[in-house]
Amino acid sequence: MTSTTSSHTPPYRHIIHLDMDAFYASVEMLDNPALRGKPVIVGGSRNRGVVSAASYEAREFGIRSAMPMAEAMRRCPDGAFLPPRMARYREVSDSIFAIFARYTPLVEPLSLDEAFLDVTACRNLFGTAAEIARRIKAEVRTETGLTVSAGVAASKLVAKIASDLHKPDGLTVVDPGTESAFLAPLPVEKLWGVGPTTRKSLALLGVNTIGDCCRLTPELLTSKFGKLGSYLYQAARGMDCRPVEPEQEIKSIGHEETFSTDLTDPAIIHKELLALAERVAQRLRQYGRRGRALTLKVKYADFKQISRSITLPEATDDAGEIRRHIGLLLKKTEVGEKPVRLLGITLAQLQGDLETMQLPLFAEPTAPGKQRQLNQAMDAIKEKFGCSIIRPGSLLKG
Ligand SMILES: [Mg+2]
Repeated sequence: MTSTTSSHTPPYRHIIHLDMDAFYASVEMLDNPALRGKPVIVGGSRNRGVVSAASYEAREFGIRSAMPMAEAMRRCPDGAFLPPRMARYREVSDSIFAIFARYTPLVEPLSLDEAFLDVTACRNLFGTAAEIARRIKAEVRTETGLTVSAGVAASKLVAKIASDLHKPDGLTVVDPGTESAFLAPLPVEKLWGVGPTTRKSLALLGVNTIGDCCRLTPELLTSKFGKLGSYLYQAARGMDCRPVEPEQEIKSIGHEETFSTDLTDPAIIHKELLALAERVAQRLRQYGRRGRALTLKVKYADFKQISRSITLPEATDDAGEIRRHIGLLLKKTEVGEKPVRLLGITLAQLQGDLETMQLPLFAEPTAPGKQRQLNQAMDAIKEKFGCSIIRPGSLLKG
C-alpha cells in the first residue's frame, strides 16, 4: 500500500518579521534633512546615558545600540548627538503598525519599530508572503519616508534572522525546506540564546557556524547546555513552532541579574542597581510605557528570596527616579549585611499607548541546577531579541 501524501510537508505558517532600519535615528533624519548622510546618534546624557539608536553612518565609527554615550562621543566627536523624542517615535510607530494591520490582524509587536506578522490566512487576498512584504515595504516608504527590512519564513526564528541579514531596506525570503541551508553558513550567535558565554563553550566544541551546530547530537547538546541544548538542536535546523501572538497585554517590565560572585560591597551593589534601573528605564521607554508599581527582588547567597514593593506617586520611565525609590526599598532588606546573589527591578501598573506586547520566550519553569545557565541564556536573548524581560502578570511574584 502506498500513500501519496508526504508526512514531511505539513502545513506551515507564513511569517514576516519587519524591523525599521535605525528607527529613532532615521526619524530624526526624516524630520531634519540637514542630518541626512551624517552620523546621527540618539541616546541619553553624556555622563550616564547609553546609545538608543545609531544611523548607518554612525555605525561606521563602530557605534552600536546600548554603548555608553561617552564612548560613542569618543569614537565620533563630530556626530550629531540627540536626545530621544519618544512621543514622535510613537507617532511614526502608530503609522507603521496601521500599515501592518491592513494585511493581517495577527501582528505581534516586539518594540515600537519591530513586529512579527502571520499572513498565512490572507495570501488569497494579497498574494504570497514575499509579495505582502514587498507591498508593506513600499507603503512604509511612501507613507512615512522610512525604510523597513523584512524577513519572510515559515517560523519566527528564521524570519527574524532573515530580516537582519540585508539591512537596511532588505528583503530576505527563506522558502520552506531551505531553512537548514540558509542558516548553515551564519555565525552561531545569530541564534537567540547564544550569548558570549555559550558562544565560547560552543567554540570549544568546534562550533562556529549554525551548520557546525547541526553536527552535534541532541544528547551532546543537552549534556553540555541542558535545556538550552535541546533548544539549540532545534533552532539550528530552523525549527520553531511558536505562533505569532497578537494582543498580549504586558503587565510589567523588569530586569534581573544573577552575579557570578555574591555581592557584599555596598558600592558595587549601588552600581549594579543603577545599571538595572537604567536598563529597565530604557526598556520602558523603548516600549512607550511608564510604570507605577516598583518592585525590588533580592536573592541572598543562601537562596532566600524576598521582594519589596512601593507604589510611586506618578508613573515613571526615568532611571534616576527608579533608583531613588529603590534606595528606599533597599532599607527594608538585608542587602549589605548578607551576601547577595541576585538583584532585580520590575515596574508594573504600566501606562502608555502601546497596549500589545508579547510573552517571554521561555516561560516554563526549569530545573534548579540549570537555572543559572538559563539565566545566562535569557540574558543573551534579552540582548539579542529584547523581549523576554516582558513578563506576564503571573510571573510577577517570581
Ligand atoms: Mg529596528
